[in-house]
Amino acid sequence: MSVVRVALDVPLSTLFDYTLAHGTAVVPGQRVLVPFGRKQMVGVVMECAVDSELAATRIKQVVQVLEGVPPLPDELLALLRFCSDYYHHPLGATVLLALPARLRSSQPVTLREAAQYTLSDSGRSLDLSQLPKRKVVQQRLLTALQQGALSAAQLRALSPSAPTALKTLLQAGWVEICAVPAAPSTFAFNNAHTLTAQQQQAVDAVTQSNGYGCFLLHGITGSGKTEIYVHLMHHVLQPCPEPGRREGGQVLLLVPEINLTPQLENYFRNRFPDAELVSLHSGLSDGERTQNWLRAQSGRARIVLGTRLAVFTPLPQLALIIVDEEHDSSYKQQDGLRYSARDVAIFRANQRGVPIVLGSATPSLESYYNAQIGRYRLLRLTQRAMAQARLPEIRCINTSNVIMQHGVSEPLLKALAERLQRGEQSLIFINRRGYAPVLMCTACGWLSGCSNCAGKLVLHLNDRLLRCHHCGHQERVPHACPSCGNADLQPVGIGTQRVESALQEHFPQARILRVDRDSTRNKGAWNVMRQQIQDEAVDILVGTQMLAKGHDFPNLTLVGVLNPDSALYSSDFRASEKLFAQLAQVAGRAGRADKPGEVLIQTAFPDHPLFRALRAHDYDTWAQTLLAERQSAGFPPFVYQALLRAEGKQKTEVYTFLQQAQEAAVALNMPVEVYGVVPAALPRRANHYLAHLLVQSDKRKLLQQFLHTWRPLLDALPAQKLRWSLDVDPL
Ligand code: ADP
Ligand code: ZN
Ligand code: ZN
Repeated sequence: MSVVRVALDVPLSTLFDYTLAHGTAVVPGQRVLVPFGRKQMVGVVMECAVDSELAATRIKQVVQVLEGVPPLPDELLALLRFCSDYYHHPLGATVLLALPARLRSSQPVTLREAAQYTLSDSGRSLDLSQLPKRKVVQQRLLTALQQGALSAAQLRALSPSAPTALKTLLQAGWVEICAVPAAPSTFAFNNAHTLTAQQQQAVDAVTQSNGYGCFLLHGITGSGKTEIYVHLMHHVLQPCPEPGRREGGQVLLLVPEINLTPQLENYFRNRFPDAELVSLHSGLSDGERTQNWLRAQSGRARIVLGTRLAVFTPLPQLALIIVDEEHDSSYKQQDGLRYSARDVAIFRANQRGVPIVLGSATPSLESYYNAQIGRYRLLRLTQRAMAQARLPEIRCINTSNVIMQHGVSEPLLKALAERLQRGEQSLIFINRRGYAPVLMCTACGWLSGCSNCAGKLVLHLNDRLLRCHHCGHQERVPHACPSCGNADLQPVGIGTQRVESALQEHFPQARILRVDRDSTRNKGAWNVMRQQIQDEAVDILVGTQMLAKGHDFPNLTLVGVLNPDSALYSSDFRASEKLFAQLAQVAGRAGRADKPGEVLIQTAFPDHPLFRALRAHDYDTWAQTLLAERQSAGFPPFVYQALLRAEGKQKTEVYTFLQQAQEAAVALNMPVEVYGVVPAALPRRANHYLAHLLVQSDKRKLLQQFLHTWRPLLDALPAQKLRWSLDVDPL
């Protein structure tokens, strides 16, 4: 009998046995359609066997072997097994997560031949100045095509409405489809700069290494890390001259933000015009994502740029992994398979025997520590790459002794006025959207709380709504206090909208743009805004962390930071690590080009070591301070943690479950520390109670051994009406 063990997307940690019809052959990694309960499901064959423990009569048959897509390579299956095992997530769910949506269904999928677009004879003889001026996008596409043929993805990179414009141009007969030329064996490379000595050293260290090696590229903002990535990619793309060695390799570049991928995509396309590049992120349609994934799997796409899920892309020629902004918390998935894409990438590089580069101006303490103890190799860039670019001057404004208007101090207003006069741009950074974080009654002290959560309703004055940022609940702003009837309700604290309107009142002539999740909700909105900023159609930007990351606005010379203090004394021991990274990043936006930058931070604690280190641009001292604190308190990276989270509508059920889990853990008497059951930071959310239980050990292996023993006991606990999950290496 031919039996296959199939991974299915169900919450059970087993594989499922099926028989194969006579004469059918499959290999591990192939997709199959199988009966499951009353439905049919798509699964992935993990093992082929001759026998099953199940009685022959109970085994059902595979309905269909899904062709058209090559099987997942063994290497990827091994990676997924590791993740399932390490993060204690069901294998089937883990394997299916790695597939794009289309491949999780039984509809036929094949890799489409990529088409390119080129100007037709009539298109070439077209006089562009004769086209109507308002057809901006058509103009842009035609101009770009005058330089040569382009793929659909390359055209899309030129404008969000490129597909519509392209359709019109095809209909008009000005553009036609042509075949894609075969990939060249060597890759052209637009070499913009001669590397600095530090950059060259970093590049050499990686290219001269043999096999696996993890490199921490610690370079201040603007030190030319991206340039190093480009040089490393160029090296990897070339076929290896030694006989019998690989052909040109593939590069996986992971980035934290989907917002940044279109920019980076364009950037790397321009640097490597001949190399096929695909991106993989959740902003793509299912169809696009599947095609891009298949192009990576086929080896045709040589550069794969993606957010965390891209770490599971099959890459037959993988030769280098780069994780940009490796400290960023968005590499950690916060539900389902709670993996860290950075850590999985390191495992993958090791498994494959290739180098991995972790880049950051403010490395995570985990990586920094690993570099200190020699587990990673440290590559330092201590200077800005462009000779004339200096680091911005960072100063604190002590909020205890200045006058504030809607959260903005006089000295900051003065600095803004100077920039307006000089025609330079400013950025005001505040990590709260909405008008004010809460509405308060001046008579009885009533606060606008959410009826479903332990959190507060945020005032959104533009929409005249109170909105919960945790559960999405919203209601109209009341005319009087619901508790005492008093009509005088006051906003407390500040958010982006409040700062925006206060600044608009103060500087009526200024062109102010607010960038936060509310203002960029519509598709393409952020692209339009970024263009406005580039075109210098904006004087003052007011925004959240969306603005902190990776954008390069050369005319921006002032950054003002409002309200960073809550993170200084937070109960989350990582909050201040995160704040430093965020502020260093946002400070890095100031003075990128030839104009010096200035950063003003409004704080009540200007002497806090965090601000002292920030002013001195001294990450190392700060990191040492934090590491010493973590060591004495017994926190990561000196220990390894796992968090058992539970949530449910009945409070007692949640706590009883965790209590029993805790007792079971203690009874095992294994060498791990088991803490008490505590409410989550937000103890109630969307009508559910949330609590957790922490377990830790100073040895990763001991923690894993414990989790493997504990997990089956958890499965056996009564938990009908609650959801629970294990979070290994929680953030
Ligand atoms: P990072 O990624 O470290 O923030 P970038 O790679 O974006 O830094 O480089 C910052 C700026 O310096 C960019 O405008 C880049 O073009 C320029 N640059 C990078 N390397 C060099 C170099 N070797 N010589 C001159 N300019 C450089
Ligand atoms: Zn009241
Ligand atoms: Zn709520």
